[in-house]
Amino acid sequence: MAKVLCVLYDDPVTGYPKSYPRDGLPRLERYPDGQTLPTPERIDFQPGALLGSVTGGLGLRKFLEGAGHRLAVTSDKDGADCAFERELSDADVVISQPFWPAYLTAERIAKAPKLKLAITAGIGSDHVDLQAAMKRGITVAEVTYCNSVSVSEHVVMMILALVRNYIPSYNWVIQQGWNIADCAARSYDLEGMTVGSVAAGRIGLGVLKRLKPFDVKLHYTDRHRQPDKVERELGLTYHPNVESMVRECDVVTINCPLHPETEHMFNDALIAKMKRGAYLVNTARGKICDRDAVARALQSGQLAGYAGDVWFPQPPPKDHPWRTMPNHGMTPHISGTSLSAQARYAAGVREILECWFAGRPIRSEYLIVDGGKLAGTGAHSYSAGNATGGSEEAAKFRRG
Ligand code: NDP
Repeated sequence: MAKVLCVLYDDPVTGYPKSYPRDGLPRLERYPDGQTLPTPERIDFQPGALLGSVTGGLGLRKFLEGAGHRLAVTSDKDGADCAFERELSDADVVISQPFWPAYLTAERIAKAPKLKLAITAGIGSDHVDLQAAMKRGITVAEVTYCNSVSVSEHVVMMILALVRNYIPSYNWVIQQGWNIADCAARSYDLEGMTVGSVAAGRIGLGVLKRLKPFDVKLHYTDRHRQPDKVERELGLTYHPNVESMVRECDVVTINCPLHPETEHMFNDALIAKMKRGAYLVNTARGKICDRDAVARALQSGQLAGYAGDVWFPQPPPKDHPWRTMPNHGMTPHISGTSLSAQARYAAGVREILECWFAGRPIRSEYLIVDGGKLAGTGAHSYSAGNATGGSEEAAKFRRG
């Protein structure tokens, strides 16, 4: 029998919800590229319920305990004496969400001799030291596509919010004002602007597709080029590198994974190559941007706005400069954890666990690391090496 350790974010401060604003979720059959949604044998939760917090427990308790496994759920993930570190010593499986990442550093992996499987309930396994996982033969899997569309929608929302100056305008209403000039002095139309995506994977392509009806000029850069047909349909301009793309863009959206090649890609030098007054939206990973370079660019006006929901570390300290820099539209890491997304990734985690316990192969589209090397989706989209630099500090950091 296995011990499954699940790290989830805290319940709402008002307590675990007793009701929800809507009575259900739309039924989806497939993802946009034809991939099937998760196919667990069954689920023990109501789609639309809050599953990603501690009490929700990803809807796994009945399934795991019914099969004689042990399930430990905690939100206490950072600091040497945290529950995660204590429970890790005899855990066989760790489940963590990128929104509330349990940083699985090499140091922690060394303290977890029984660990065989690390599941990301979401997409993006950069909180796991993939190099250390490969070395130890730990399988790493994530629920590919489960929240890609959720994030694409969020990116479009954030682009519009920045360009049209939505958040400050909303704040004038809250302050009982009617300050039209204050709102309008930073407000533009998106129409006609050039928007570029760093990566055209599931999220990036979803963003580009959603932006097409806005009559913008769409650009992208990626390691693999889209088929001609897609480029023609969306009117995409391809750039072989990010430098060439950002020079032409009014808006840049970052949609690539964090790995050694992309860590701190948006630093002072790259931001200086952008047009003055460009907008940058990053829902991929905080560490793809240099924290202080972004804050400096907003101060100087080189960037007109920055929005996103990804930080480093997570949660960020109270004095993280992205909380207070001008013209930002940051949120906590929420784009991929809508109630709609949670139903999919909880089902996906269940599917992965069912396969694992039954000795059946995990879908290759879910695999990041397997058999000591990058595998499946991981082999396509990630590069070997360790992008968790700094996670050691993050793991030790405790919320104030
Ligand atoms: P995909 O794997 O579908 O797409 C990633 C794309 O990034 C691939 O097309 C890949 O290229 C490309 N890529 C990799 N390295 C580079 C590079 N150096 N330069 C340009 N492109 C590169 O993943 P998703 O679109 O579903 O997700 C992308 C990322 O978004 C995740 O890894 C995660 O970090 C983040 N994310 C954030 C969420 C949130 O809640 N904010 C939720 C879900 C994901 P190729 O494969 O062609 O080599």
